[in-house]
Amino acid sequence: MKIYVDGKFCDEKNAKVSVFDHGLLYGDGIFEGLRAYHGRVFRLKEHIDRLFYSAKAILLTIPMSHADLMKAVLETCRRNRLREGYIRLVVTRGVGTLGLNPNRCKNPSVIIIADKIQLYPEEYYKRGLDIITVPTTRNLHSALNPAIKSLNYLNNILAKIEATNGGCEEAVMLNAQGFVAECTGDNLFIVKEGKLLTPPLSAGALYGITRQTVMDLAGQAGVAVSEPNLTRYDLFNADECFLTGTGAEIVPVVKIDGRVIGTGTPGPLTRQLTESYHSLTKVSGEPIYP
Ligand code: PMP
Repeated sequence: MKIYVDGKFCDEKNAKVSVFDHGLLYGDGIFEGLRAYHGRVFRLKEHIDRLFYSAKAILLTIPMSHADLMKAVLETCRRNRLREGYIRLVVTRGVGTLGLNPNRCKNPSVIIIADKIQLYPEEYYKRGLDIITVPTTRNLHSALNPAIKSLNYLNNILAKIEATNGGCEEAVMLNAQGFVAECTGDNLFIVKEGKLLTPPLSAGALYGITRQTVMDLAGQAGVAVSEPNLTRYDLFNADECFLTGTGAEIVPVVKIDGRVIGTGTPGPLTRQLTESYHSLTKVSGEPIYP
């Protein structure tokens, strides 16, 4: 596998970062997870936009233009002859001293890995997930805004550990006010009386690119979409529930904290949106091999 590191392509075994990189020392950096389908990178511009927004929020200057970063992602896919896969784009603060001061890091590092996609087991999609609410709340906006896709994922990792300790794959994370924020690596949706609802970004959700795509697809299908604050009670009494994310795509949820959701099987709107999503990924995206 060829990895892009700071403008050069190197073999996997030579793709290394310094032990003084603040990405490693402090989680000081940002990232994106993208997906390639049928020789196209899905929603490439949106992912690069979000990376630049994250960079702005943490005062990190990405040492490349938007257009050059898009080209580098596509070139990394070509070097690895990728048509289907998962792409990880990372920008670290770069090499500095042992102190926190990011101003000591003169050169941020850009890393791009284009790998095979590790798909979730098929049964999750067929039967649906059983998830639980966990004690770790989502980061406060005023502390570390969940909209920043930073290398500091410990908040999500703690919640993920609590989920797996509880025998579940995913966790519902609440915010400090007790409203539903999102899951550890996915956004959450419910369906109630034919309407689609998802927590507002202000509740502590990431500006999910799959989330936005699903909201657009629902709108095109004439389904009303809203973003109210949601409580666990709303989740328990939903007709359907599903999670969205670049890696996971759309995963049905059939049980939350022991409460069966709807009929206990993936619901009709979940299935319809999943079909529309797959149809879209077949035709949409930036061609890797134009
Ligand atoms: N929330 C979190 C915390 C995430 O890390 C992700 C990405 N894995 C998502 C939601 C989903 O975002 P996207 O649809 O852009 O992949």
